[in-house]
Amino acid sequence: MSDPFDLNEFHWLLAIVQSIDVGVVVLDRDCRIQVWNTFMENRSARLPSEVHQQSLFSLFPEIDEMWFRHKVQNVLTLGTPAFTIWEQRPYLMRFKNYQPITGQEEFMFQNTTLLPLQGINGRTEHSCLIIYDVTSVAVNKHQLQTANLQLQQLSRTDRLTGLHNRGYWEECLAHEFARHRRYHSMAALVMFDIDHFKSINDTYGHQAGDKVIQAVAEVMREQVRDTDYAGRYGGEEFVILLPDVDSSAAGLLAERLRLGIESLQVSYEGQKISFTISLGVADLSHPTEQHQQLIERADQAMYVSKENGRNQINFYTGEVLEGK
Ligand code: GH3
Ligand code: MG
Ligand code: MG
Repeated sequence: MSDPFDLNEFHWLLAIVQSIDVGVVVLDRDCRIQVWNTFMENRSARLPSEVHQQSLFSLFPEIDEMWFRHKVQNVLTLGTPAFTIWEQRPYLMRFKNYQPITGQEEFMFQNTTLLPLQGINGRTEHSCLIIYDVTSVAVNKHQLQTANLQLQQLSRTDRLTGLHNRGYWEECLAHEFARHRRYHSMAALVMFDIDHFKSINDTYGHQAGDKVIQAVAEVMREQVRDTDYAGRYGGEEFVILLPDVDSSAAGLLAERLRLGIESLQVSYEGQKISFTISLGVADLSHPTEQHQQLIERADQAMYVSKENGRNQINFYTGEVLEGK
């Protein structure tokens, strides 16, 4: 260090450490603070003179002392660096987040590096903790995750009713069906279609028809459980998959739906629209190779309801279809 150039270089290095936009802390073996750069001073609102020789853990009780001491010990003994990343541990020290653009996060997300520092005597008695502010990375990732979730939700939802759309509903059915095969569990399907819907459209207009469809979805939402899968299968055709339920229990729901719709009056431009539905019920008590068979069977039962005069429920019973 007696060489004036070395001293100059040392001076430069100090200036760099002070001004860089990362936290630099030097700790002794006992985790007492030796160096505290400007970044740390600004973020913690503590002067270097205040923190010098202070224990890191008394100043920042949010640090898990056992874990961090163990980490420091390893770094000093092995002479190799250690890291933490924000995905696993959002921060080491809880600093407020002041970044204007990423202001929606309360605290600063941090990646950290812990380096062994060898002294001029060749011994490694100190470690250097480097703290990176990665809040903007974390915010971007969180925003992307939220956007993806919203997109996924949109791609699964029927716009008019908010029910599952046909594609997603069929995915759920396929999934439940696979579960049934594995565990031999039961599942039932209720399918229904609005009676003479075309005449509602013709009499009151397409918008009134849309309102009727939305009102049906509302009745469905009131009647189904959280574990059921309610979907809009087609224009005015709806489906409800009931896991772990057989036809007779599904029939109770079907009857509640039938009565609920029958007593419903949809208001449209001062007029009251009344209508009915025809329902079909099928379950997995008959040998079923593919999930589509369950849809076909509920559809067949529903067709019988239409044929027999509408506003009623029929059950798939193998070859013979019973009216109710
Ligand atoms: P049925 O009792 O036999 O079921 O007769 P229906 O008149 O209900 O059945 P049909 O299949 O003849 O007519 C269904 C109509 O539903 C035809 C179609 O224009 C209309 N539709 C399909 N999707 C929508 C929609 O999203 N909104 C409205 N308003 N109408 C729709
Ligand atoms: Mg119809
Ligand atoms: Mg139809």
